[in-house]
Amino acid sequence: MTEKNKREDGSTSTASIKLTPHQERARDALIDRRRNVFNVVEIIANEKVADMMDRMEMCTCSKCACDVLAIALNSLPTKYVTSHAGKQYIQLNSYKKQFETDVEIALMRACMTVKDAPNHEDEDAK
Ligand SMILES: [Zn+2]
Repeated sequence: MTEKNKREDGSTSTASIKLTPHQERARDALIDRRRNVFNVVEIIANEKVADMMDRMEMCTCSKCACDVLAIALNSLPTKYVTSHAGKQYIQLNSYKKQFETDVEIALMRACMTVKDAPNHEDEDAK
């Protein structure tokens, strides 16, 4: 039994595919997209989660922190914005004012949910 086109991972197979210039542009645009499109609500939540967990006097293990963040983000709308260096902070600050309260409420609710029924292993808890 022989395997002629054995591939270790995706990178080898990607390189072997010949892309048209049009396809290359689309691929490059997607790489670019990862850098320049982001969810401001997620960024705000990430910034505030530690503070909220501290205020709620709950377990702050990584499992609980991830659970709080996931529950909060699932209850929040996503707000994607495009950014270019420099413009990013101006845009982010205006959205912060707009979504800050919603994010804090969602985080507080998520904290209460996780605090009541934590998913962490006993050895992680204090
Ligand atoms: Zn925990």
